[in-house]
Amino acid sequence: MKDGSVRDHYEDGYGWNANLRRTLFRESERTQLDSLMGMLGNVSLNEEEDEWEWVLEKSNVFSVKSCYEFLEKEVYIRESGNVQFPWKRIWEDKIPTNVKFFKWTFHWDRLLTVDRLQKLGLIMPNRCGLCKEAEENGDHIFLNCRFTRRVWEELVTVKADTRYTLNNCTKAKEFMLEWKDFNSKDLAFYVWAILPSAVLWVLWKLRNEVIFNDGQVVFEETMTVIKATIWSWLEMNTRAMEYRKAFKFTDMLYGWRLIMCEQW
Ligand SMILES: [Zn+2]
Repeated sequence: MKDGSVRDHYEDGYGWNANLRRTLFRESERTQLDSLMGMLGNVSLNEEEDEWEWVLEKSNVFSVKSCYEFLEKEVYIRESGNVQFPWKRIWEDKIPTNVKFFKWTFHWDRLLTVDRLQKLGLIMPNRCGLCKEAEENGDHIFLNCRFTRRVWEELVTVKADTRYTLNNCTKAKEFMLEWKDFNSKDLAFYVWAILPSAVLWVLWKLRNEVIFNDGQVVFEETMTVIKATIWSWLEMNTRAMEYRKAFKFTDMLYGWRLIMCEQW
């Protein structure tokens, strides 16, 4: 179909003819062709000159806003079954930009976990680097893995409703979307807001370290790295830094329950 004109693919009285250059071998491609043909089905041609139209705006002029809203609603629902793309959590959290992109990739199910690499055609064994027991996929590595569960459990023990969600959730993204603000007017509020990002990021880096550098999985060490990561990311938030002044890093390391205390 490449470089074909509309005329090449449309015959009066007969309708559309795709004239494919190769056979479609993937289910997803056939679905796409079907949906294309469905869209073209109602189109009738006339002699007027062609022009572009942006159908998402009344004015028919493209706007980023309308495009973004479309992607947020339509595509995200289709791809993930979730109602809303958590763009605030991803783009407005005070965390490094590369971590924002990492989270964005995670929410679109595009992280190259072993199950996805296999789907893309790579032949490799699938073994989770963190527990070395189960197969690796996004939900496993970020939520269901024995090691990961232990990490979350230790951290969320300070907030009852999140502890409840953790016990009742098997989808990592769902768990992230359920993440509520911490009831605190102190440092805890800011720590809690970036905690999920820090956990995902540290686990992902640890997993890479295991796969590519023969890294070791040590629970206490991972907890320290997560807390150190949060501690350093707080520097990106001037308000949070006002509150951080009252604490030392060792408070965070050894006094998690003292710092993370809900106030009503
Ligand atoms: Zn695992």
